[in-house]
Amino acid sequence: MSQRMQGQPMVIMSEDSERVKDEDAQSRNIAAAQAVAESVRSTLGPKGMDKMLVSSMGDVTVTNDGVTILDEMDINDPTAEMIVEVAETQEDEAGDGTTTAVAIAGELLQNAEDLLEQDIHPSTVIKGFHLASEQARQEVDEIATEIDTDDEEILRSVAETSMTGKGAELNKEHLSNLIVSAVRQITVEGDNGEPVVDLEYLKMETQTGGAVEDSEMLEGAIIDKDPVHDNMPRSVADADVMLLSQAIEVEETDVDTEVSVADPDQLQQFLDREEEQLKEKVQQIVETGADVVFCQKGIDDLAQHYLAKEGILAARRVKKSDIEFLSEVLGANIVSDLSEASSDDLGYGDVSRDEDNDTFHVTGDNAHGVTLLLRASTDHVVDEIERGVSDALDVVASTVADGRVVAGGGAIEVELAKRLRDYADSVEGREQLAVESFADAVELVPRVLSENSGLDPIDMLVDLRAAHSEGQVRAGIDIENNDVTDTLEAGVVEPAHAKKQAISSATEAANLVLKIDDIISAGDLTTEGDEDEGDMPAGGGMGGMGGGMGGMM
Ligand code: ADP
Ligand code: MG
Repeated sequence: MSQRMQGQPMVIMSEDSERVKDEDAQSRNIAAAQAVAESVRSTLGPKGMDKMLVSSMGDVTVTNDGVTILDEMDINDPTAEMIVEVAETQEDEAGDGTTTAVAIAGELLQNAEDLLEQDIHPSTVIKGFHLASEQARQEVDEIATEIDTDDEEILRSVAETSMTGKGAELNKEHLSNLIVSAVRQITVEGDNGEPVVDLEYLKMETQTGGAVEDSEMLEGAIIDKDPVHDNMPRSVADADVMLLSQAIEVEETDVDTEVSVADPDQLQQFLDREEEQLKEKVQQIVETGADVVFCQKGIDDLAQHYLAKEGILAARRVKKSDIEFLSEVLGANIVSDLSEASSDDLGYGDVSRDEDNDTFHVTGDNAHGVTLLLRASTDHVVDEIERGVSDALDVVASTVADGRVVAGGGAIEVELAKRLRDYADSVEGREQLAVESFADAVELVPRVLSENSGLDPIDMLVDLRAAHSEGQVRAGIDIENNDVTDTLEAGVVEPAHAKKQAISSATEAANLVLKIDDIISAGDLTTEGDEDEGDMPAGGGMGGMGGGMGGMM
């Protein structure tokens, strides 16, 4: 036995590293997670406020969108980052409900802290939360209402509910009409006859300068490019279109070869060769029969001239995403090597010039692609509208796919809380307390919705619970009239799928945080790349978030 083992502790960590254990670790993590939840809470619901985010580059974003806020916040604390991931998962899986998911995660952790203080072991809390979450998901299935996915009115309600509180709100009627029409255009029948929404066939474009009411849905694609040459046609009806991912330029000779020219003849020969190469490329295009070329890369001046002489319309440096969308719209292959191109690769449709906006409007002959063209007065407005519409598109698409909705405005949450409390009675042991805590946490949604609307959250919750105990499953908050109403009837409708996802992502995040009883970090407790906070003591690691959030709360 070495001496060390008898007396002194064995040192296994470097001097710089820090360690926080047990309760300290837990309360530090819970505080960090709550700070994140706190930062988005005030944006929840139709009367939620917006946040102004100023990046280190000075770019300003004004938004109400949970995941956007958290993404831009430059969060620098490992635990807080885990909560941000909840928002990202929610965004990926459901497209909406990010604020709800994060707020519930924060509330779960706050309630967990109370349980831990009563000496309930974290693993008991984790188990109870897990049971409650599984039960809640089953209950959502029970409570959810099946809809007819051809019922455009209910789909519009889903879109409007998702847009409430966002910049899109003021024009939500017009926009939800567009969204529902667009989704229906790109809904196809799946193998088993079920509706499948393929969002690949939909593209959003934004233009500033117009009014939101001028936003429209167009068949096909909008390409924000000019013809490369003045002598080219500007519109081509019944066009054969080539999509090219290769440049129409002279291929660079080997980088290392130097061309040494001894006399003027040789120089001329060299230039002639380049010219030949370009001519050949244009000839290859002509031979496929293309009338229009959308090229993702550059087009040499000389090639532009030859193309114009052939009467071919060409645009260069078209965005990759546009080329890909065009290939859906036109049914064209993307050509990556001109020498192998043939007429089989071309797509068919109309290319027309919109001279007012300097764009091409491309429609395909057997088109199923649509473009949502969003207009608004300024960049900030159009960006926020785009985020609102994008969330709404996702939820309408998932509603069409899933076919089930729940009543919003806190109705589903109060009903879930009620059912979870009943369920808690059947749970043995201390886990029961965790299930009850979980039920309380879910009721955060109606509480915060009331708070954010200037209503008294306690009175409202009392009324809501009373309605639900009388069997009014869809009783939620009527925000305008400070009253309780059947929110599904009132058109406050959310997809069941998004609710289930919000519950499970919130639970997973909370449980992940609760499992940690030991924080060992090399250096301070902020993540990499934040030199100016290098001396932060462990307990103050939260300060790592200060930079991002200080101005916001
Ligand atoms: P999230 O990021 O979680 O989607 P939102 O700010 O979009 O957050 O708020 C969603 C919540 O607002 C949901 O609980 C929804 O039911 C509620 N809500 C939306 N519109 C209304 C309305 N008109 N009346 C009451 N509640 C509403
Ligand atoms: Mg929302």
